[in-house]
Amino acid sequence: MPVRWGLIGATVVAREWMIDAIREAGGDIVSVMSTSTERGKAYAEEFGIPLAVTNLSNLFASGVDAVYVSTTNERHRAEVVAAAEAGIHVLCEKPLATSLSDARDMVLACRKAGVVMGTNHHLRNSATHIASRDIIRSGRIGRPLSARVTHAGYLPEHLQTWRLKDPTAGAGAILDLTVHDADLLRFILEDEPETISTLTQNSGMAAEGIEDAALSLIRFRSGLLAHLFDGFTTRYARTGVEVHGTDGSLFASDCMPQKPGGTLTLRTADGDEEIVLDHKNYYVRGVRAFHDAMAGKGAPPSTGEDGLISLAVALAALESAKRGQTSAISTGLDS
Ligand code: NDP
Repeated sequence: MPVRWGLIGATVVAREWMIDAIREAGGDIVSVMSTSTERGKAYAEEFGIPLAVTNLSNLFASGVDAVYVSTTNERHRAEVVAAAEAGIHVLCEKPLATSLSDARDMVLACRKAGVVMGTNHHLRNSATHIASRDIIRSGRIGRPLSARVTHAGYLPEHLQTWRLKDPTAGAGAILDLTVHDADLLRFILEDEPETISTLTQNSGMAAEGIEDAALSLIRFRSGLLAHLFDGFTTRYARTGVEVHGTDGSLFASDCMPQKPGGTLTLRTADGDEEIVLDHKNYYVRGVRAFHDAMAGKGAPPSTGEDGLISLAVALAALESAKRGQTSAISTGLDS
């Protein structure tokens, strides 16, 4: 029996990535919830989804095993908690919420209900980043000392909506992009971020008071220092992730877009080695792993707890930028 999915939110990310990913991973999309009857109906028709509903009760009553939550961020808490209470597994978009207390409620509700909770940090499923993690784990670069993430691009016109102007929905480059970097570095380095210092920029693309780019410095538990540049405003920047260790360095390039790709070079005393990568769709890989987790095999690539930590990093970054001081990173949840 295929996993029966309900979509919460008739959204761009589902349209561009997740509907195909769920289907390619063997799932069946049985219903979509939108707050607008017309938009929901049109969306369902466009994607061959049998049922469009306008509230959560009707979505849950459509016999779904799992929901994919991709509404604006301030809505995630209520939707995830309701799904958990209905015994339905949840894959939620990042950032999990706009406050730590909301995200903690979501994680605790899923734990209590015994349902699988995943955070859709798709970059964990990239062949480039998996290879980096494996190389670091193998010890080939020695002890990692520093890292650099460049996650800057140009926010396409059709996404220049709430992300740039609605603080209640969690607008800004930090909640949109820095969360991904934080999760990715935890994944690659297998280390935990402890403090963050951030400076923000508004170059006129975002509304006043909202950052459209940010530069952050994170200190990890091991002592590693990472710097991150996240932005919506540069059309020609090359994205990348570098990790420098005592015995080698890793250079990943063009590796942060949603589309699979990127190159990875390992530099050691032996010279430069181009790592061979088998690129696959990140979202399909993520949904497959989520299906496995539902069947009791392993955990989603990024769990609810992982999403809570990446949100804690982003909120600490915002606090740091506001106060002009380094902020400690804490989820407020013991384990
Ligand atoms: P959208 O702007 O497409 O949708 C967000 C909400 O806006 C929806 O819930 C929808 O409400 C409402 N909406 C959509 N279209 C309209 C419209 N024409 N008029 C009025 N309201 C509308 O969001 P995104 O797809 O850009 O992002 C959704 C979530 O996914 C966010 O949490 C974001 O951070 C995350 N995201 C994650 C990505 C990843 O790769 N992991 C990539 C992109 C986004 P309704 O529920 O009523 O349909």
